[in-house]
Order: sequence, then C-alpha cells, then structure tokens
Amino acid sequence: MSFMVANYVSANYGWLKAPDGCTAQVTLKPGKNQDGYMTNEDILSQLKVVAALVKEIYPDNNHYFIYDNATTHLKRPDGSLSVRCTPKEESTVFGVDISKRDSEGSIIPGEKQQMAMHGASFNGEPQPLYFPPDDGIGMGKFKGMERILAEQGIETTGLKAECKKFKCTPPQRDCCMQRILYNEPDFQNVESNLEILARSLGVQVIFLPKYHCELNFIEQCWGYAKRLYRLNPESSREDVLEKNTLEALDAVPLVSMRR
Ligand SMILES: [Zn+2]
Repeated sequence: MSFMVANYVSANYGWLKAPDGCTAQVTLKPGKNQDGYMTNEDILSQLKVVAALVKEIYPDNNHYFIYDNATTHLKRPDGSLSVRCTPKEESTVFGVDISKRDSEGSIIPGEKQQMAMHGASFNGEPQPLYFPPDDGIGMGKFKGMERILAEQGIETTGLKAECKKFKCTPPQRDCCMQRILYNEPDFQNVESNLEILARSLGVQVIFLPKYHCELNFIEQCWGYAKRLYRLNPESSREDVLEKNTLEALDAVPLVSMRR
C-alpha cells in the first residue's frame, strides 16, 4: 500500500491552511488498481484551489509557487512545438503524439493519436509548418525541417536530421537540423500548462533546475514527517497508515521548516 500526499508549504506560514481549516491538500493511493497516478490535470486542479486560498488568506502578498522540474509539472498544451522525431522531408503523417481520449474526454491509457503542431513563428510572423491540405480540409503535409529552415534562410546542405538519439555534443548548436530548430525562440518559449493557468489566476510559477529537487524545501518537510512516522508502531491497517501520515505531516514544526 502506498499513500501519497500533495500539499503546499511556505517558510513564512507553514502548511497552507485557512483559519476555517480549509487546505489544498490532496491525498491519493497511487497504483493501477487504486486511485491511479497524479496527472498534470490533477496538478492544475490543485493549483486552482491553492490560488483561491492564498488570495483569500493573504490578499496583500504576491504568490509564487515553486515546483520540481518534473515531466508531470512541465507538461505543455497538446500540439505544442516539439522537435521529437521531426522528419527532414515532406511527410503526410507528421504531428505530435498526444493521448487518445474516449467520448467522455478521459485518457485511454497507452493509446496515442497525432495532432498537428501549432504556434510556430519566424521574425515575429506566424510560420506555417504544414502545406495547405489538398482537399481544403484537415491537415496538409508537414513541410519537413529542411524546408522550414530554408524559409528562414538557414543553409542545411549536408546537415543530418538528428544527432544520434538527439545527444548532440555541447556547445554545438548547429550540428543537426533538430538542434537548430530546438534552439529557436518559438520552440524554446512554449509555456507549460501550469504557467498558463497561473497567469490566468494572477499567481506565478517557478520551476527548479532539473535534477535539483533538494532545493525544494518541501523535501525536507517530507523527510522530517517520514522520521516522525517511523516512530509509530507498525501497522498493516490502511486507516492507521493514513492517520499516522497526516499527523506526522501536521507535526513538522515551523522552526524546522525555516532551518
Ligand atoms: Zn545535433
């Protein structure tokens, strides 16, 4: 049995909690036959709750939410620009893979469908990545990287499409077509769903550098709570597991958080 708690904490105020006891805490029993896993959509829903709460409790502050640099946090809108597997030449089928959904809008696990990319620009003007469709409907052919770069005046003769597994040797920036596209401002500046939502809610999101979750002091809070948790007698009962977990979290002293 696993038990997961997702919550917000600040070194000024401790765990986020309204005077009436309301919190943005989410608990989950992760696993295939349990509650599933925390998705980007869950994280967005939680941010909506937390933004409303902080604005109510601390109306005079500016609010910044710090997140680890994790894939679930960084998810971009479907169809965002991406160089993953972009073909060099014209291609009828090229789009980005997105999750397939059923008629009720729920994700079908493991199934993918293709969606055309959007949002490309060059010199401040939109740059279409697809030819107009022959029949006037649907999605036309993908232009291919060669042509997209040629339209920008970039010479690609003799250049390969992609360095092996896109592991280019730094500081090379023009070793392959994918690397050149990857470094262009329209590909670089795609905002994550979290950033887009945060802006609409009047708060801000900061992502920690990759592989440095230890900079996120919530990790130390979890660590402290886990130590307290292990001081309890062992139990195989789920309700005891939950109660002990939540009590251990509640017991992390503010002074330890500040340290
Ligand atoms: Zn390369």
